[in-house]
Amino acid sequence: MMNLPYDEQLRLKEKKVRILLDKYCKVSPIIGMKNPYHYRNKVQAAFGTTRSGMIISGVYQSNSHRIVMVDDCLLEDKKADEIIVTIRKMLKSFKIRPYDEDKDFGILRHVLVKRGFTSGEIMVVLVSATPKFPSLKNFVKVLLQKHPEITTVILNVNPYDTNLVLGPTEKILHGTGTIEDTLCGKVFRISAKSFYQINPVQTEVLYNKAIELAGLDGTQTVIDAYCGIGTIGLVAADKAKKVIGVELNSDAVHDAISNCKRNKIQNARFYCGDAGEFMQGMAQEGEKADVLFMDPPRAGSDERFLESAVKLSPKTIVYISCNPETQARDLKYLTKHGYKVKAIQPVDMFPHTAHVETVVLLSQRRPDTHIDIKFDLSELDITSAETKATYQEIKDYVLDKHGLKVSSLYISQVKAKCGIIERENYNKGKEGHRVPQCPKEKEDAIMDALQHFKMI
Ligand code: SAH
Repeated sequence: MMNLPYDEQLRLKEKKVRILLDKYCKVSPIIGMKNPYHYRNKVQAAFGTTRSGMIISGVYQSNSHRIVMVDDCLLEDKKADEIIVTIRKMLKSFKIRPYDEDKDFGILRHVLVKRGFTSGEIMVVLVSATPKFPSLKNFVKVLLQKHPEITTVILNVNPYDTNLVLGPTEKILHGTGTIEDTLCGKVFRISAKSFYQINPVQTEVLYNKAIELAGLDGTQTVIDAYCGIGTIGLVAADKAKKVIGVELNSDAVHDAISNCKRNKIQNARFYCGDAGEFMQGMAQEGEKADVLFMDPPRAGSDERFLESAVKLSPKTIVYISCNPETQARDLKYLTKHGYKVKAIQPVDMFPHTAHVETVVLLSQRRPDTHIDIKFDLSELDITSAETKATYQEIKDYVLDKHGLKVSSLYISQVKAKCGIIERENYNKGKEGHRVPQCPKEKEDAIMDALQHFKMI
């Protein structure tokens, strides 16, 4: 969307969310980014060779495997882009060929760089089609000489015919194999394969909003479903009684557990598994939760998850999504099964792209405990004298006999004076505002009516 001014991009994204979600609740104005450039802390480059034999690296053209060469990109971290260009230039002298999918020939498939926004730590992952990467030690040594700011280097082996960037095996070549970053005052360890939000500045905005909407007061049991490395749950832990996190990716769960210890958090536990299955287990064992944070991948949640969420019946669900289309589908289910959408907040996590993130607050609406009733305060707490005439009968009498219109407020003021009313509702204005006092002429007319109905 870079061809559009940033304000216009925001307007379009807000509109997209409104079209999809407005039917559930009013959509709040989107929160944009102050400086929407070079925000991506994770950069992934595919490597290939042109027909003329030139080595290229960059991104895939959409819906294709054609590599579009990238030297630097306004969305990506500058240092990460520099490192990728350095690696591209080093390949020739090391006689390392990019991998060719069609011919199943060559070595280097991708380079992945992750950078800690606050820590400045940098991870470089070389994704190779084979474990036999020629002169690997020397390659890493030269790379570190050129970029001493790199804190860890990993070799990931992906021999499969797959669209996934990373393969199953990893070898740490330098450093710890992880980087750290600080988010909302907590330190997080991130591995190569763990999910970590790619826009750290807006992530703080997103998490703060999500936690604010959850209304935590230290007494609640909180579930962080699809928790990744535990970020939302651990940031929320200070304001919760207990946090339970669940995540499918075992590397991410390891990170979550280590992040919990690292931040000396005592009230959080993390489990590895399918979130739907886990929730089902909790529901079957009759466990309860007060607040459910759910942050599923783009495909959204599944019926098993939503079904168990409804069974667990948390009072509050905070649904964070990077795809309002699947979120709309899931909201349809939740609103049909006892929840009401109370707030929708779009956040621009991905400036210059068509993607938009949303936080939605849902509250439980029990049909048997929520009934809308209209009533007049004047009909409440009726003393025995009051039963003799309704406010309306008094008003009618005063109008008939004295030709004066009187309000319920004035009637209650006169009743209070006569001691036939105990409550003070009418005489207390909202937030300390003064309420009008009954003029003498009307007071006399109301007195007459009260006598007429034998109330005084
Ligand atoms: N809440 C985290 C991660 C959100 S991304 C954060 O803000 O950083 C979505 C996460 O869901 C990923 O970590 C992915 O591994 C995980 N995931 C995908 N399918 C899942 C499933 N069926 N059950 C549990 N976790 C799943």
